[in-house]
Amino acid sequence: MDDVASAEKRLSILRHNIEQRRDDLVELTRQLIRIPTLNPPGECYRDICEFLAARLKARGFTVRLLRATGTPGDSDRYPRWNVIARREGSASGPCVHFNSHTDVVETGRGWSVDPFEGLVRDGKVYGRGACDMKGGLAASIIAAEAYIAAFPDHPGTIEISGTADEETGGYGGVAWLAEQGYFSPERVQHVIIPEPLNKERICRGHRGVWWAEITTHGRIAHGSMPFLGDCAVRHMGAVMMEMEERLFPALAERRTEMPVVPDGARQSTMNINSLHGGQAEPEPDFTGFPSACVPDSARMVIDRRYLVEENYDDVRAEIVELLERVRRERADFDYDLSELWHVNPSLTEPDAPVVGAVAQGIRRVLGCEPVHVLSPGTYDQKHIDRIGRLKDCIAYGPGILDLAHQPDEYVGISDMQDSALVMALAIDDLLHARQKRQKQE
Ligand SMILES: [Zn+2]
Repeated sequence: MDDVASAEKRLSILRHNIEQRRDDLVELTRQLIRIPTLNPPGECYRDICEFLAARLKARGFTVRLLRATGTPGDSDRYPRWNVIARREGSASGPCVHFNSHTDVVETGRGWSVDPFEGLVRDGKVYGRGACDMKGGLAASIIAAEAYIAAFPDHPGTIEISGTADEETGGYGGVAWLAEQGYFSPERVQHVIIPEPLNKERICRGHRGVWWAEITTHGRIAHGSMPFLGDCAVRHMGAVMMEMEERLFPALAERRTEMPVVPDGARQSTMNINSLHGGQAEPEPDFTGFPSACVPDSARMVIDRRYLVEENYDDVRAEIVELLERVRRERADFDYDLSELWHVNPSLTEPDAPVVGAVAQGIRRVLGCEPVHVLSPGTYDQKHIDRIGRLKDCIAYGPGILDLAHQPDEYVGISDMQDSALVMALAIDDLLHARQKRQKQE
């Protein structure tokens, strides 16, 4: 059989195997949604890991349950459990790894369906995490199972992981596993993270993040004689004025060449997460009056998202310069600046093997050119890139990005099937890449 005919044959076998598993795919997604892995605080991690372990063990995977002891949020009440399932083929070869986070965010208000029932209606599965990202996890499992059923003697290794805490930074999940060596390039060569980025899109990375806290200082005095004190809130007001007049316009001017979606995120952005000055907020049931005091401190938390074209030192220096400008212009102005969190931008090269394999899968399954994108926010790729030093990593999965974290979140069943087929083709391509190269030489 020539190569083209054999490629067509393999596609039709995989398509058939995935179509056959439609009910299984739907049921698996529902079962995952019914385990309410809310984070924070980190509920039911052990349950979902045991569920995944039992399923994959029955399909010939070797499974490991790993607790990220001592990571942020880990406690005996809320242990940070992770699962890694590994299936080695009949010959040596690369390892293709699918990583999904198992946690979901709070439900919030506005649901018209039970967020943890896994209702199926009009070709969609509803529930918290349906889109972000239990649908993607289910699709990757079906992709791997359909692939193994079709080609049990494949070379190389297939891994599937379900990891904790992505929604709160990934420190008890992928970051910890990467520190333990589970994402080292000697062990794993290609990673697909089935986050909901829309099935025709390949997400090659994300912008950088810098969170910081700015505190302005003052001096307490009686509120009837503010001239005897020094108002920290007015000092913060001067900082905010500087931000409005100079910083925000400057950020809006900075556009990236990278295809960040949505378009509003193709520029540098900064959010003011919180602002507090003076007396603490009273308890909701407190009925008394506030006291008359000049606030002696004010605090602001900022969330700066930066572009691959910018760098961390400049991002930080820009804020320091702003604060120093205010200091020069304002009597008695004093501040502290402390960093809360920093993540470098992550960007996988457009010609990386995993990008090529998934792109080819999208062309063959969906008949369209894949759209390359970058995510406005970060996800676990940062840890695989920075701690694991593994560069061949993308996010690719079913689900509509905009539905993540929303009420009545859902994932389309045909989207899951299509992306599962793309993933199965990518497995096939990546596991045989070495053999194909040798054949060409
Ligand atoms: Zn997610």
